[in-house]
Amino acid sequence: MQAFVTRRIPREGLAALSQAGVCSIQQWDSDEPIPRSELLAGVAGKHGLLCVLSDQIDKEVLDAAGSNLKTISTLSVGVDHLALEEIKKRGIRVGYTPDILTDATAELSVALLLATCRRLPESVEEVKNGGWTTWKPLWMCGYGLSGSTVGIIGLGRIGQAVACRLKPFGVKKFLYTGSRPKPENAVEFQAEFVPLAKLAEESDFVVVTCSLTPDTKGVCNKDFFSRMKKTSVFINTSRGAVVNQEDLYQALVSGQIAAAGLDVTTPEPLPTDHPLLSLKNCVILPHIGSATYATRSAMSVLAANNLLAGLKEESMPSELQL
Ligand code: NDP
Repeated sequence: MQAFVTRRIPREGLAALSQAGVCSIQQWDSDEPIPRSELLAGVAGKHGLLCVLSDQIDKEVLDAAGSNLKTISTLSVGVDHLALEEIKKRGIRVGYTPDILTDATAELSVALLLATCRRLPESVEEVKNGGWTTWKPLWMCGYGLSGSTVGIIGLGRIGQAVACRLKPFGVKKFLYTGSRPKPENAVEFQAEFVPLAKLAEESDFVVVTCSLTPDTKGVCNKDFFSRMKKTSVFINTSRGAVVNQEDLYQALVSGQIAAAGLDVTTPEPLPTDHPLLSLKNCVILPHIGSATYATRSAMSVLAANNLLAGLKEESMPSELQL
C-alpha cells in the first residue's frame, strides 16, 4: 500500500509510519504548504493520505486520488478543511487528533486572553520605544478576570479546559452556548446555557472555542458585536471564519468592544497590511494553539496510528464518526 504525507511532520510521527512496514510513504518534505498541483499529483493512486489543516481536501483531491483511497488522517482536531459529505459518500474513513491538544490549546487561549485584556504586547512595545516615561495612575489600564462573567461559545473539550483554567482567577459566572445544553459539561463551572445574544450582552469576556460548521460560520458578526459591552474583550481560538472580520474591525475601531485576541484569522496567514494589524487593541497570533513540542509530537504519532489502522482496516485510536 502507498500513503501520501502532505507536510514535514514531527519525526516521531514519521518514524511510527515508516517503521510499521504497512505502506510505502511519499512525502512533501517541507514546512511550507504543498502546491495544489503537487497535492493532486501526489495523492493519485494512494491508499492513505495524512494531511494538515491548510490542505483543502475537496472533491477535486478525492477524484485525483481515485478509488484506492480508503483512509484520510488529519493532523488536527478541526475537520472543516475536509469535504466530509463527499468523503462519507466514498466510504473513506477519517482519523483526527482530539484530546491530546486540548491542554495546549486551552493554555494558549488563556495566555491570549490575559495578553489582550492586560495589554501586554502594547506595554512591551512602550518599554522599547520610550513611551514608558514614569509610573502613571491612568496609563496602560485594562480589564481583569476577578468578578467577571465569561461567555464560552462551544463548551466542548477545549471550551471546558479553558473554563477550568479561568475559574481560579475568580470568575464570577460562566455562560455558554452551543447547539444544545450540556449539563454534564457545565456542572463543574455552574455554567448557564444561554442564547448567543444573551451571551454577547452579559459577558465581560467572550471566548470562542466551537468547531467551524455551516451553523457557526460568521456568527460573531455586526449584530453580535453590537450587543457586547464597550468594556468587553473578545477571544477566538477556534477558526477564523466563525468571525466576520470586517464587523470585528468596525467594533474595535468604534470602541464598541474594548479589545480582541485572535489565534485564528481569515485568511491564514493574515496579510501584513491587513487593517486589524494596525489596531493596538487587537492581538493576533499565528495559529499556535497546539504548538508545544510535546503536543505536536503526540499529534503526529496519533495521526500516524490513525492512518495505519485505517490502512489495516482495524479500529482507529481516534476515528471521526461520519
Ligand atoms: P469539540 O467537538 O469538543 O467542541 C466543539 C464545540 O463546538 C462543541 O461544544 C459544540 O457544541 C460547539 N458547537 C457546535 N456548533 C455550535 C454552535 N452552533 N454554536 C456554538 N457552539 C457550537 O472540539 P474541541 O473542543 O476539541 O475543538 C474545538 C475547535 O477548536 C476545533 O474544531 C478547532 O477548530 C479548534 N482548534 C483550534 C486550535 C488552534 O490552534 N487555535 C487547536 C485545536 C482546535 P455542541 O456539541 O453543543 O454542538
